Formats: sequence, C-alpha cells, structure tokens
Amino acid sequence: MDFELRIVVEKVAVSSQEVVKRDTITSYAIQCPTSIVELGLRHGEQISLLEKIQDILLTEQSILIDHEMHVCPHCGNPLKKNGYKASNFHAVFSDHTLHIQKHHCSNADCHWHNTPTIKSLFGSNIHPDLAILHCEQGALYSYREAEKNLETWNARPRRVNNHMHVKRMTDKVGAVLSEHNQLAPAAAECSAPAQDLIIQIDGGHIPIQEKDKRSFEALSAIVYRPEHLQAVDHHHRQIMEKTCESVSDPCCAQARDVSRHQGDGAGRWGEELLVGVVRSHT
Ligand SMILES: [Zn+2]
Repeated sequence: MDFELRIVVEKVAVSSQEVVKRDTITSYAIQCPTSIVELGLRHGEQISLLEKIQDILLTEQSILIDHEMHVCPHCGNPLKKNGYKASNFHAVFSDHTLHIQKHHCSNADCHWHNTPTIKSLFGSNIHPDLAILHCEQGALYSYREAEKNLETWNARPRRVNNHMHVKRMTDKVGAVLSEHNQLAPAAAECSAPAQDLIIQIDGGHIPIQEKDKRSFEALSAIVYRPEHLQAVDHHHRQIMEKTCESVSDPCCAQARDVSRHQGDGAGRWGEELLVGVVRSHT
C-alpha cells in the first residue's frame, strides 16, 4: 500500500476546538530512500515549507492589522473599508505579500484615509532577525560575499539579500551604534582608573573591489595596562588583557567593526579611536 504525508494547517477556535479552516500545504511521497540525499527534505524543500506555513500565518495576522479602527481620528465619523493594500514583508528565509485593509472616512468633507503598509506600521518591512544576519554578514565580509553567503543559506537568491541592501542595513545600524558609542558609560560599568596605559596604533590602506573607487584607510589600536604585559619566555611577551578598536575612512568604507565612526578627516577619527579604546578599556 502506498502512502503519502500530507502537511495540513488548521485554524481552530480556541474555546470549542472547532476547525474553521483547513489548508493542505503540501504532501510528500513516502518512499524508501535509495541514497542519503533522499533522507528527509532537501535544503530548498525545507525553506519552501517554511515559506508556505509563514504565508498562512501572515495572512491570518494581516486580517487583524488595523481591524479595530472604526472611527475617523480627525472628525470621529465612522470609517468605511476601502479595499486592500498589498505590502511586502521579508522574513528570515522568505518573502511575502500581505494585504492590509485600507479605510477612508465616511464624511465626504473630511477626506481622511489611510493606506497602511508593513513599513509605515512597523518602521521596516525586514524582520529584525534578517536585519541581524545582514549586519553580521556585512560586518564580517565584503557586501558581495555577504550576498553570496546569504544566498547559499537561503538556497536561492533574494532581492532583499542583494549586496546593496546588506550595505544599507549595515550602515543604518552602524550609525545608530556609533551614536550610542558616543554616550559616556555609567560609572558602575567602568573599571578602576589606570595609573598608566599603553596604546599602540597602526594604520594602512585596504584595497576594495568596487570599480573606480580608491582604497580606504583604516586605523586599529590596542590599549592595555603595563602590568598586563607579561613575559612568556626570553623572546616573547603576552598581553593578558587588552582592548582592541578599529575605525575606517567612512566615505567608501565598510569597517570590520560597523559600530564605529562617521566623521571627516583622519585626525578626527583617529581621535575618536583613542577615545573609544580608552573608554572601553577594562
Ligand atoms: Zn473624518
């Protein structure tokens, strides 16, 4: 007897446990695997399954968005439904289109209407979990490498993982972190003041792959207390505890540390580097 496995999603009334909606997502033939490749689902099939389940969940969630809005915020007259607005949403592994209810005011003189999108409602149409991946990849690799890595994990290319998107997200989050880094830490977070500090700074030019763009400059520094420099043997010494910081020319650069600086002039960002290392030294 042949069998298949059917993947079904049921919408159930919590109180009565009545099934109000039933969707068959997909089905898999049950066959004896002839090679290890046939064991379980393949990479692309797993992503595709997630995508279909997400689609159903998002459809249910999008029905609830703004549905409790009944009166006009301007004149207080009842609102009328005015069709749906298609809106894009990018989850970690899949892209979706949500349809969100539009409203307009029933008072002809008022003209109030709204066209909500995921971006206008939540500030972004990229799930933060995907934004984290973009930032981590953008900080560790070139943007083109990041795009390739994301494509490999996702088992297919997606426009949202394009290197320009990764760059934009890395820059955006980097700017916020940079601002945060300007804030003085609470006294409780600081270590006891050091009598002396040793700071070593080095810099260099790093070539980039973008055509017609010059290389960018980077500075990196380590800072440590003299007492943390200990002899390993006659020829080697080791720093037991140190803090490392780096900054790069922000005009065309992608620093390894995305949280660094946006300023102008090597002098100014060199200064920033020093402030950073001294401040964060423990
Ligand atoms: Zn109105």
